Amino acid sequence: MQIKNTAAIVSGGASGMGAATVQLLTRLGAKVAIFDKNMSQAEQVAHETGGLALECDVTDEKSIISAQGIAKICINCAGIVMAKRLVGKDGPLPLADFEKIISINLTGTFNLMRFAASHMSAGEPDTFGNRGVIINTASVAAFEGQIGQVAYSASKGGIVAMTLPAARELARFGIRVMAVAPGLVDTPMFAALPPDARAKLAETVPFPGRLADPAEFAKLVQHIIENDMLNGSVIRLDGALRMS
Ligand code: NAD
Repeated sequence: MQIKNTAAIVSGGASGMGAATVQLLTRLGAKVAIFDKNMSQAEQVAHETGGLALECDVTDEKSIISAQGIAKICINCAGIVMAKRLVGKDGPLPLADFEKIISINLTGTFNLMRFAASHMSAGEPDTFGNRGVIINTASVAAFEGQIGQVAYSASKGGIVAMTLPAARELARFGIRVMAVAPGLVDTPMFAALPPDARAKLAETVPFPGRLADPAEFAKLVQHIIENDMLNGSVIRLDGALRMS
């Protein structure tokens, strides 16, 4: 599908991979709406790129409805990370912690996807029958989550599992659904770790032995949008990393 002059939504577009995606898509001529909870950062990215910052909490239906416009490209990057054991020092993982990460990462992705798909399905197709493309952000933790990632892995596993049934269902409208499963990416989310822990983790990536740049995620998003045969799959972006 064409990017130039096409309206796009990027959730979590105020930071990290979302912000890199906003930068690339605006440079390629898309009209990008940044859906984020963090308005000051969203406005900064909008100012730098010419995008439009809209306050949106992806877990909140009303918030999505009030921000939603007609877009043919929907990129879900909003998410949080959490490292907590199923059974920690203080006993079982509080259910509220599990529910919080599921609510933002999985339900939030579903929430935006359903409204975006509904708007896209009512739009006009291009000459090849495309009405839109939805790209969700999973994680390699969906496949090989580490200790402390039970909740995070469940949230990302749900995103992986939604990809094929959503693509099958939306095929009749000419809407594609894909997911990207990044490995280790150099974003503010990752920067929260101490520098030596980051360096150690980077060494575990076979090649290239470094963290991914958020711009590399954006480049993959560009390719997925432009390549109409990509549908119903999850692409790993991880330098052959298989977390131990
Ligand atoms: P980031 O923290 O830099 O950006 C996340 C953005 O999401 C922030 O702008 C934040 O304000 C927004 N957000 C959080 N909750 C929200 C909500 N309820 N509604 C709207 N916006 C909300 O993170 P990132 O590293 O760019 O991560 C982007 C996505 O990629 C996340 O889903 C993350 O789980 C996933 N991921 C990250 C890595 C990594 O190594 N950084 C690896 C695999 C997957």
